[in-house]
Amino acid sequence: MTNTPSSTTCPYCGDEFLLRSNKKFCSPSCRKLSAQQEQRKKQPVNAANSPTERRKQYEVYELASRMAETLYSMPPAQRLGYIEEIIQLARSGECPRVRQILTMPALIRPNPDKKYLFRRGCKSYCTISQAADRYCRSSPWNAGVAAVVRGEVPDPPTGEIVEEVAEAA
Ligand SMILES: [Zn+2]
Repeated sequence: MTNTPSSTTCPYCGDEFLLRSNKKFCSPSCRKLSAQQEQRKKQPVNAANSPTERRKQYEVYELASRMAETLYSMPPAQRLGYIEEIIQLARSGECPRVRQILTMPALIRPNPDKKYLFRRGCKSYCTISQAADRYCRSSPWNAGVAAVVRGEVPDPPTGEIVEEVAEAA
């Protein structure tokens, strides 16, 4: 090596380059890439900072709130049928997003401070997943909605719907 002291190594690509007093990297692109790498180390990609993830999560919550709206705008007598329908839809795998909603802990046991999770921001309304969870627990399923949707519990005998279930929904 015959490098003069006026040469240095780029910390990003490892290339040698002529030392200039204020330059740490060999090129603007190495400087940029290195900064991005640092940034990524500090903030892993998740819903909080990835536009795609945030968008996906938004769509899920949006659909969940539309489903809750549908449920609560129905006469109480029809609500059980609707809940049963969406549970079957989620179980069938036909609608992955409904499946995601009904198995999502953040919606089954929502944080009461997260008002956006509740219909009209009011936690006295259940989220759709909470309503489905109550239904499953007080119906012949006798299990949480996530377990029912994932097929982790045996099918209950078909037929009657208990009266008290109607009130739970
Ligand atoms: Zn470089």
